[in-house]
Amino acid sequence: MDRKEILVNKKRIVIKVGTTTITYSETGNINLDKLEKFVRVLINLRNQGKEVIVVSSGAVGVGKNALGMKQKPETEAAKQACAAVGQARLMMIYEKLFNEYAQLTAQVLLTKESVTNKECRRNARQAFDELFRMNVVPIVNENDAISVDELSYGNFGDNDTLAAYVAKLVDADLLILMSDINGLYTDDPKLNPQAKLIHTVGRIDARLEYMAKGASTELGTGGMATKIKAAKIATAAGADMVIANGENIYTINDIMAGKRVGTLFLSKEHRKDRAKKPGMKKKSAEAEETKS
Ligand code: GLU
Repeated sequence: MDRKEILVNKKRIVIKVGTTTITYSETGNINLDKLEKFVRVLINLRNQGKEVIVVSSGAVGVGKNALGMKQKPETEAAKQACAAVGQARLMMIYEKLFNEYAQLTAQVLLTKESVTNKECRRNARQAFDELFRMNVVPIVNENDAISVDELSYGNFGDNDTLAAYVAKLVDADLLILMSDINGLYTDDPKLNPQAKLIHTVGRIDARLEYMAKGASTELGTGGMATKIKAAKIATAAGADMVIANGENIYTINDIMAGKRVGTLFLSKEHRKDRAKKPGMKKKSAEAEETKS
């Protein structure tokens, strides 16, 4: 199966946008223009009959700005308060944009317990199923106001991991992580001009994890290591995963059309298909020079 065959017929898609994708780095304010385009892309996917779930970061950053704080919140309590204020504002903006197309949305805030505890997991799945049935687009974030390390249920730590667990929970067939990096490189592209973008990843092995180690290029919580962790969770659960640069949000359309953007991590089923092809057995990744 080639990339196009793998991607064009996806039915249930989880799309994660990082803080750096939806805000201006200079001010930390929401990039309304981009968010509006993002919502349009999502509704267009809905119009094609696909189900979408958004995992959106930004609560802490938006809350910090709303509260007029100059610096990043230092204490845990300040972070919790920023998240609580910011989450409401973020949802208000999403609501407003989706409303222009008469598309209902829902806020779903999860904690780690939502996926580790059997009963909570069942409840969460039931809620998502019903929202899909009602044609609602769920917008998910971690419940940062209460999900802190000190509390017994712990936290996801970053929305890459959260998005992967959501993909697993709802049996999504595709997870897209829109970030501020083009994809996985053979080395840190900022330090090594010879670094090449890896277009397709089969097996996630030690060599690949090593490549990802240095490349913590993202300003948000998750670096490349968290994306590899997310890829392991999602692909083992049967979802393919793509990491791509969210600078141009329309890249989501290119991904869905099977164009060669970002890095595609093959689900375990597609990995098996690939391993059957001659010459592909031992190969974990196809490294090719990036044209961009
Ligand atoms: N949940 C955090 C927020 O909405 C973001 C975590 C992350 O950047 O991965 O602010």
